[in-house]
Amino acid sequence: MLPAREGDAIWVRWGDTDNPYQMLVDMGTEEVGRLIWQEISRLPESQRTFEAVVVTHIDADHIGGLLSCFVDQEQPSGVLVKDFWFNGYAHLEAKTSTAPLESLGAVQGERLTKWLLTQSWNRSFGGDAICRRDGEPLRTVELPGGMQVTVLGPTVKRLNALKPQWEQEIRIATQKAEKRGSNSSLEALGGKRYQDISDISTLRALAKQRPMRDSKAANGSSVILLLEYEGKRILLAGDAFADDLADAISYYSSSDNLKLDAFKVSHHCSRGNITERLIKAIDCQNWLISTDGTRHKHPDDEGVASILYYKSGNAIKLFFNVSSERNEKWSNPTWKSRFNYSAEYGSTEKGYTLEF
Ligand SMILES: [Zn+2]
Repeated sequence: MLPAREGDAIWVRWGDTDNPYQMLVDMGTEEVGRLIWQEISRLPESQRTFEAVVVTHIDADHIGGLLSCFVDQEQPSGVLVKDFWFNGYAHLEAKTSTAPLESLGAVQGERLTKWLLTQSWNRSFGGDAICRRDGEPLRTVELPGGMQVTVLGPTVKRLNALKPQWEQEIRIATQKAEKRGSNSSLEALGGKRYQDISDISTLRALAKQRPMRDSKAANGSSVILLLEYEGKRILLAGDAFADDLADAISYYSSSDNLKLDAFKVSHHCSRGNITERLIKAIDCQNWLISTDGTRHKHPDDEGVASILYYKSGNAIKLFFNVSSERNEKWSNPTWKSRFNYSAEYGSTEKGYTLEF
């Protein structure tokens, strides 16, 4: 989990440690993309091949880095991305036919869609949308080296819902970094208060608080990927809705429970994207939370409390990609022993690397 500002940038490597296969799932904000560019440049040229680069959805904290790393500047020499996985405007109808991909034409299309048209784009899906269709088998892609990737979402309904808002969302997502800076200082005025969690009933009260569910179309359109390699299983949820994830799990496993080695918690552990039903559907010890807490003040206390409360007795391990004002409270030793969990933090330079 690379440091990705308020977003996600997950670098997955598998196979031979000296010369691994690799893929990227999201690339954080624009400034993060420039750091990823440098990371790639530090690799030997022979290791600059990516089996896939995935953008789960069009929010700036997921897509921005793709623009700054690959679109707006020359790539480091020797970089080969075999396929970009991204649902563009032409995919939002999610037709089964292979309609030709169109450029948006307008300003917002210039940087991304037009560029993708010159690349290998959703080739693993025959150019189609990356989604789950009710009543049809789940799409699975076998990447070289034995990595199996299953698409658990979004549903066609969620793609369709994004269509009317596409132009507005992509304008927001591709706006300049300077503008984003002023936004974050405005949002910083409305800080959330610190709360002591003195006992299990306080934790329970916090876990039960759920003022609203996430209904943002862009988040709902997140690509949800299940990665399986040599018996290990990781679920990368983007910013997907909690009910969609729980539905996808029952669709996949034909039970209400899925055994995982790691779960990348949806939407940076926002309280609007985590529910009792979802937490109980995931049989997993390692919960990964990616955000530095800027802009949206994630993770929400209610979100983390929900994981610890509904999974109490499971010796949960929380992994934060970086340490932040928002998440460092969970390193409290009293809480860790009281609620039987551990918390690991990555560095602002490197993020956190988990090995399986
Ligand atoms: Zn996000």
